[in-house]
Amino acid sequence: MSEQLQRLKQQGLYRSRKVVETAQATQVIVDGQPLINFCSNDYLGLANHSLIIKAMHQAIDQFGVGSGSAHLICGHSTAHHALEEELADFTGRQRALLFSTGYMANLGVLAGLMGHSGFVLQDRLNHASLLDGALLSRADLKRYRHLDCQHLQTLLADNTRPCMIASDGVFSMDGDLAPLQEISHIAKQFDALLLVDDAHGIGVLGKDGAGILSHLQLSEDDVPLLMGTLGKAFGVFGAFVAGSDDLIETLIQKARTYMFTTAMPPALAEASRASLRVIQQEPWRRDKLQSLIHYFRNAAKQLSLPLMDSQTAIQPLLIGEAKAALTCSEILQQHGFWIQAIRPPTVPQGQSRLRITISSEHKFEQLDALLDALSKSL
Ligand SMILES: *Cc1c(COP(=O)(O)O)cnc(C)c1O
Repeated sequence: MSEQLQRLKQQGLYRSRKVVETAQATQVIVDGQPLINFCSNDYLGLANHSLIIKAMHQAIDQFGVGSGSAHLICGHSTAHHALEEELADFTGRQRALLFSTGYMANLGVLAGLMGHSGFVLQDRLNHASLLDGALLSRADLKRYRHLDCQHLQTLLADNTRPCMIASDGVFSMDGDLAPLQEISHIAKQFDALLLVDDAHGIGVLGKDGAGILSHLQLSEDDVPLLMGTLGKAFGVFGAFVAGSDDLIETLIQKARTYMFTTAMPPALAEASRASLRVIQQEPWRRDKLQSLIHYFRNAAKQLSLPLMDSQTAIQPLLIGEAKAALTCSEILQQHGFWIQAIRPPTVPQGQSRLRITISSEHKFEQLDALLDALSKSL
């Protein structure tokens, strides 16, 4: 093993994959062992939903498997087009544009709209794809302290350059929400374009699951650029950016991660359309998820578990050192629970944690069993 890899092992930062033998669900089989899954982003249990599977089967019969090319060549099908129109409606934006992944959507927006003379401000705990997008754009990147609007305002004070502010809506490793009303005020005041990454809010928060901007009643005027993913609560794959006609047209011309990559298979777009219908028509999934979250937090407080300040389906337990988090995760696996230890560079040094995610498909008894195992293992 190379020195670099050995060093990662010694620091407790080595990453390895586990092999899943079943579909995504709250019960999975991993390397032959049955585990209760508490680390999936499939918050509404749609990754293996019968109606969505059926829609995808039918779409494969109609469209085949591959899209054949990029959207701008010959890969943009009626399935993609219809999904874009439905996502624009769903999020209350003029237009939506599909990307193959959320990672690529964020790279495309930042590098497509900002250049080396620009200024990008980001929350310190933003997702890696937003940070990487800013680096790719070659704009001047400054990170403000987590949720700290005062700091954001200070950094903007004397700016005269074209400027973008980007923030996660729900922070992916913390589960807390960005103060978007305040950030939107600041963006308007300083003439900055605002991008919100709603990877963990879309489908889960807001009216009919329309996301954090619906939850906080922020319009397209308040937040001009919204990124949402289709691989988490949607249970499928892919992502979209929603905004004004003008911004979306600009992305079609300028976002290189849109222009120079093969379109997602049309059947995936049809699967996401079916998923969108389930999200809108089955509010009980969100209600059940909320009940499970409340139940978990109340019980965890009584057990004095190191809960973080999150009201969402992401319920991390702060451990501290990377090795300690890894050991906890291994002990929990021996008890039949799958929870990932999240370590640097995903989170800051000394803030390694167990990232527990709850799905509407979990049973209260599974939470009880987890809480029991946690109180014995931590
Ligand atoms: C998962 C995630 C992404 C990336 O989305 P993919 O579709 O998985 O590439 C972007 N931003 C945030 C906040 C995420 O959690």
